[in-house]
Amino acid sequence: MTHVRGSAASPSCFCSACNSSPALSRRQFLCTTAATAVAASTVIGASGGPVRAQQPSGATASGRAILIKGGCVLTLDRAVGDFEQADVLIEGGKISAVQASISAPNAEVIDASRMIVMPGFIDTHRHMWQGILRNVLPDGSLDDYIATVQKTFGAKYTPDDVYAGDYFSALGAIDSGVTCILDWSHIHNTPEHTDAAVKALGDSGARAVFAYGNAQTVDGRWWEAKGSKYPNDIARLRKQYFSSDDQLVTLYLAAPSGSPEQILPAFAAARDVGARITIHVGVGERGRVGLLEKLNAEKALKSDTTYIHCCTLNDTEWKLIRDTGGTISIAGYVETLMGHGNPPIQKAIDTGIRPSLSVDVETSVPNDFFQQMRTIFSLQKNEVWARRLAGDKNPPKFLTVREVLEFATIEGARANGLDRKIGTLTPGKDADIILLRTDRLNVMPMNNAVGAVVTSMGPQNVDTVLIAGKVMKRNGQLVGVDFGRLVRLGDEARDRLYSNANVKNVRL
Ligand SMILES: [Zn+2]
Repeated sequence: MTHVRGSAASPSCFCSACNSSPALSRRQFLCTTAATAVAASTVIGASGGPVRAQQPSGATASGRAILIKGGCVLTLDRAVGDFEQADVLIEGGKISAVQASISAPNAEVIDASRMIVMPGFIDTHRHMWQGILRNVLPDGSLDDYIATVQKTFGAKYTPDDVYAGDYFSALGAIDSGVTCILDWSHIHNTPEHTDAAVKALGDSGARAVFAYGNAQTVDGRWWEAKGSKYPNDIARLRKQYFSSDDQLVTLYLAAPSGSPEQILPAFAAARDVGARITIHVGVGERGRVGLLEKLNAEKALKSDTTYIHCCTLNDTEWKLIRDTGGTISIAGYVETLMGHGNPPIQKAIDTGIRPSLSVDVETSVPNDFFQQMRTIFSLQKNEVWARRLAGDKNPPKFLTVREVLEFATIEGARANGLDRKIGTLTPGKDADIILLRTDRLNVMPMNNAVGAVVTSMGPQNVDTVLIAGKVMKRNGQLVGVDFGRLVRLGDEARDRLYSNANVKNVRL
């Protein structure tokens, strides 16, 4: 067990190494400091030019170090430990130190008193092109979603609509504390649609994984879409946009739902250019066909693949995921709403797989990760209680809030292929950090830091967001975003889409 400089001796460190007693004191859970009023100078609401202005002064664009001072720090790195109060130093976009007190006279200081400082949330599956169709289908099933969102709207998307959808989704993610997001992008009706999605992700400033997927058509036969170059256009994307994996937006392939004959060429196209893969499996009745057994017979299952939902997989398929080193993504809230099957949180744990979490669709799901964490936490506990009530003498263990927070951070980093760069506040990793206010009426007075995040907080607690050391949100406001232009962009894209899809927009 190693500790960041000085933290092992710090009375405020409450990692397991420093506190062998399982009974943690109240003080060890508290994160209170005397409030001091030192705030970074930031420019909020810059106007003109692109919707997002370039990085404003005061952030790391100037190359200046940032010192996050006096927060309750949850590094979520078990070797580093957590701190009732500590400082986090950021240099060159990376975390250079986490310790009880850091002196960095030239650094820009962000006061984190009465805040929890932790890694940003990491979403492993979201169809971001739907960012202009938020809440369009609150009462819909999976079949309704396919008919309305994919066949009616998706088939009529223009590249400008893709740009707007991705851009809204990315800014919404940042605003709610999600610093890394996999864009499960199946809207590539033409290569221009693809270029628009990649541009939007870049313009947003989010850390994103662009997962290149199929087209949408009015009849669902994506493989017959005339303008689509899926999956082979991924070779162009690798060359044109993703020549390095050491950049803020990286490349995956989003494999289609379908037969092995349709899936295998997509897998091959991804692996030809060294892109990892993400695929929906085990979704409702459609997911009960033993797809993973068939793909395994072709030796197609590898550790480069993330399996989404997994609700109706059979036991053999679960073991295949584990034994081939795959990762999984559970979108618990949408799975309960739309008929995918029971979110497989207990099944994953029983199989020995730590899941990541995802929002999936903003057409009926809120865009924040607090909802996702609480959904799987309550579902797992309910399942254990139900087994106990039914007389099970050897029920599974209850999940803890800390495990849930790990699913929302480091397990997401793993599934997005980025666990060496993000997911914990480990010195040397990129500075993807969120500051959560504890002086809000939904959590004050604070008694348990991890508990506050998982059980009580919401997007209104997200005060500050940094991605690769850049300040993206400060004092509760996105930085460098012209909100007036944003409103117009959204309204215009929505109205254009409804018109092209010949759908009357009745907002009540
Ligand atoms: Zn999905």
